Amino acid sequence: MADYDYDLITIGAGSGGVRASRLAGGYGARVAVVEKSRVGGTCVMRGCVPKKFLVYGAHFAEDFEDARAYGWTPGPAEFDWASLIANKNRELDRLEGVYERILRDNHVELIRGEARLADPHTVEIDGRALTADKILISTGSWPSMPNITGIEHVITSNEALDLPSLPKRVVIVGGGYIAVEFAGIFNALGVEVTVVIRGDTILRGFDQDVRETLATEMENKGIVIRRECLVRSIEKANGSYSVLCSDDCLIETDLVMYATGRLPNTRDIGLEGAGVKLDNIGAVVVDEWSQSSVENIYAVGDVTNRSMLTPVAIAEGRAFAETVFNASAIPVRHRNIPSAVFSQPPIGAVGLTEQQARENGPVDVYVSRFRPMKHTLTGREESIMMKLVVNQDSDRVLGCHMVGQDAPEIIQGLAVALTCGVTKAQFDATIGIHPTAAEEFVTMREKRPAAAA
Ligand code: NDP
Repeated sequence: MADYDYDLITIGAGSGGVRASRLAGGYGARVAVVEKSRVGGTCVMRGCVPKKFLVYGAHFAEDFEDARAYGWTPGPAEFDWASLIANKNRELDRLEGVYERILRDNHVELIRGEARLADPHTVEIDGRALTADKILISTGSWPSMPNITGIEHVITSNEALDLPSLPKRVVIVGGGYIAVEFAGIFNALGVEVTVVIRGDTILRGFDQDVRETLATEMENKGIVIRRECLVRSIEKANGSYSVLCSDDCLIETDLVMYATGRLPNTRDIGLEGAGVKLDNIGAVVVDEWSQSSVENIYAVGDVTNRSMLTPVAIAEGRAFAETVFNASAIPVRHRNIPSAVFSQPPIGAVGLTEQQARENGPVDVYVSRFRPMKHTLTGREESIMMKLVVNQDSDRVLGCHMVGQDAPEIIQGLAVALTCGVTKAQFDATIGIHPTAAEEFVTMREKRPAAAA
């Protein structure tokens, strides 16, 4: 073997890159990870983690109101955005330290700087050339926005997590994960929220009942959803913005946020020059072993655009390290990946949507809608929707979907059952935990009539 500086150089210290590097280091490989920004990547520094703190923070608004129905008379509740942001940032600093320590403990060298491939075995970092037997690309993704007049005035989720103060009004463009999560956060904190979507409803790719239920819940909370509407231009005047839409409607607002998807970070890092094949959106094309078109170059996480979810990046990073540095080949199966949307109320889902399942044969559908027990006292207009999609021939449960409090926590457990190939009969044979919302998943007996499907 040629004499390289390292066995592995990882470009990008996010969830996937750190997991792969620290495992490889733990197996005795000589590893360096290069990072130009903060260790922890999108999830920890600009995504899941800070977002979840804002979701928790926002939910207290309803909690204080609801407490009255349970006999509490809370004092006048005051909210201080700056405190929430400062506390959140303190925790992110701590987490960055934890990630750095994990790398150190596994003998992984952290190199700060911007990396570029000079050839398949050479990485240049700010003028310094280092060589490695294997290269792992884990550079993540970045918000993408359409090129319209005034786009320079908008923010993305990156800035939304650190706003100096809360606006009075916000327009959010897009109807995906990020848009609905931030719509919920801003709305709960008293901001007037308008969501502008180009389709007929939010969250394309999710089950239709989930999409419609959440849209209704959001509207019940006062969020305006403007459907089949495209933003044409954005103009700034006197500290506010005028958003001109395709239906000629003009929305005046204090802040415009775009959440129109994310693109893989593959520009200007020398991938194509090194012979690495990219797809039409710039994602690294990989096989089930995360190996690219160049034999010694691998890629994991958002940069491959297989599924832009942190636990998937971590699973891919682990599988890579086990396969390449621990001689135990593990492919990642991208099936039955559970996911959650931390909207208000949240969503949890695993498996196929009803529409996807129907494409493969006849299905039985079970749907339950009810008011959560907590709100029978508070009177709050918030409901829970649960849905099971079952293959008629095999009785296998193909999909579980939920909108409502605790949905992500509940669906995680059901994801285990789906991974084991659970049947509806096994759901029915499971004893519920009473009184919970989750027990409804094991007590659904009435199939939805075919006409309603
Ligand atoms: P998504 O892909 O989820 O949604 C993008 C939204 O923007 C869609 O509603 C899409 O509409 C719309 N859109 C795209 N292009 C345009 C355009 N030119 N004009 C108007 N609307 C447009 O992207 P997000 O940015 O919300 O999130 C990126 C990824 O990050 C997600 O896919 C997810 O994998 C990950 N993520 C996961 C989270 C979680 O697990 N809880 C939280 C946040 C992010 P249409 O549907 O019509 O295409």
